[in-house]
Amino acid sequence: MPIRVLEPKVISQIAAGEVVERPASVAKELVENSLDSGATQISVEVKGGGVSLIRVVDNGSGIPADEVELAFGRYATSKITGLGDLETILSLGFRGEALASIAAVAEVELVTCAAGEPTGAYLALKGGEVTGRGRRGRSPGTTVSVSNLFRQVPARLKFLKSPATEASHIANIVSRYALAFPEVRFSLSLDGRVTLRTPGSGRLVDSVAEVYGLEVARNMLEIKAQNYNGKAGISELTVSGLVGSPKIGRASRDYLSIFVNRRWVRHRALAWAVEEAYHGLLMTGKHPVAVINLALPPREVDANVHPTKTEVRFRDESAVFGAVQRAVRQTLVELAPVPRISEVAGRPAASTAPRPPLWPQAGVGGGVVSVPASPTPALTLPVLRVVGQLLASYIIAEGPGGLYLIDQHAAHERILFEQVRERWSRREIEVQRLLEPAPFEVTPHQAEVLEGHLERLSEFGFAIEPFGERTFLVRSVPAVLAGRDWLGAIREILDAGGGEGWEEKMLVSLACHGAVRAGQVLSDGEMREMVRKLEREFGRS
Ligand code: ADP
Ligand code: MG
Repeated sequence: MPIRVLEPKVISQIAAGEVVERPASVAKELVENSLDSGATQISVEVKGGGVSLIRVVDNGSGIPADEVELAFGRYATSKITGLGDLETILSLGFRGEALASIAAVAEVELVTCAAGEPTGAYLALKGGEVTGRGRRGRSPGTTVSVSNLFRQVPARLKFLKSPATEASHIANIVSRYALAFPEVRFSLSLDGRVTLRTPGSGRLVDSVAEVYGLEVARNMLEIKAQNYNGKAGISELTVSGLVGSPKIGRASRDYLSIFVNRRWVRHRALAWAVEEAYHGLLMTGKHPVAVINLALPPREVDANVHPTKTEVRFRDESAVFGAVQRAVRQTLVELAPVPRISEVAGRPAASTAPRPPLWPQAGVGGGVVSVPASPTPALTLPVLRVVGQLLASYIIAEGPGGLYLIDQHAAHERILFEQVRERWSRREIEVQRLLEPAPFEVTPHQAEVLEGHLERLSEFGFAIEPFGERTFLVRSVPAVLAGRDWLGAIREILDAGGGEGWEEKMLVSLACHGAVRAGQVLSDGEMREMVRKLEREFGRS
């Protein structure tokens, strides 16, 4: 084929792919526009995982009637006039690509009214082409309705996950911006169910309570806004926000939100800086709950790395990194005088982390037996005699080759994993009814995943039912979790989301949360029983 320049329509569709990856990208861009317009109220309505409908209504500045069509042009923006403006502006948008991109891959209806205009304006587009325009009454503000997303782009549609999963990503984005803008009243409804509503009080802790629940909000510590004037070359760098006390550590990394000049960003180094500040305070496998706000002069940060603007670069990354780490660490040390968790050498790691099988080396002296949850170890276990327990974490046993140290959590986890997997394969998971049904709160993201998985959870023994907007009631749990941290197991599973390999994750989680912990004292009988089961599992046949 000869070289030729692509048709404008094809160009926009290709470009749109970078901005609109999935329904949550649409929600993100529309909410950012509403925030840039100075709105104090933003409501997001979602149907069918955002593919059928995403509607964002705000009470912001509105778009002047004579600019409405221009707003949908590529690279059409009211926020900058040149690259130089990026040194000073603080708006979330500036590339002028979002509305054009969305219109290229969906049907869009816009109703807007700018302050001072007698009536509002209406514009409808389909596949980037205007299909209707006119006047419409509306109070000042803007409503953008996006429907049938990707209908013309089957390749994208195919890559989307289930509606529940896509909706949970939208809930995630809206929750983040609710945390970044506590002075704005947000509401989010998914298929008619209100899953998030923030008061717009201006207090971050109120938003945290709505997004993560009261228990988390009560355990948040305030970072004393620190100014790092002049330090390491950055003048006017401020770190503020809330960090969770180590006791509310979560099994997922999703509870850490970092905002740079109120833009939600993904930044591995910064996330790592926050995790580092918790070093020695959080249990292995747990991650912090935290909302970190960084404010610095726009010239110090570049948000123009990617069309989605979720990545940023700092002119002086190490200064920013250091400031975040100091601010978080100081808050934790001053406000949460929690005892450090003593790390036992070779402590069992988080259940889901891949763990190398550490079987005793052949030859002298036994070794540390750390039994992984899924891969089958290469060596077999001889008949063992239990000698005792070490550090309340290891079973000491004697075998023909010498002494064995058996990691009690890992060993029990392995035994339970085999047991539940076997029962699951026969659909005979044992169920334990709770004496009293237990209510528990979930995040909007978790609520969405949960709604979509109630039935599958019940197959594993969790009888859970909705009990208010963001509260659910647990009536029964799998018997392996009776008396154990079943709530932790549910949270872990919900944070992992749905999708592929869900059953396997569920089994691993049941085994992990059902297993005895490091630090738990075991009776001789319990240890013998465990070793006997291990022998049966891994013994020479
Ligand atoms: P950008 O946000 O990068 O400027 P967009 O394509 O998202 O580009 O929006 C184009 C323009 O449309 C914006 O610059 C703004 O002037 C206007 N606009 C979009 N959404 C809104 C809104 N909710 N309220 C007011 N103006 C809006
Ligand atoms: Mg925008």
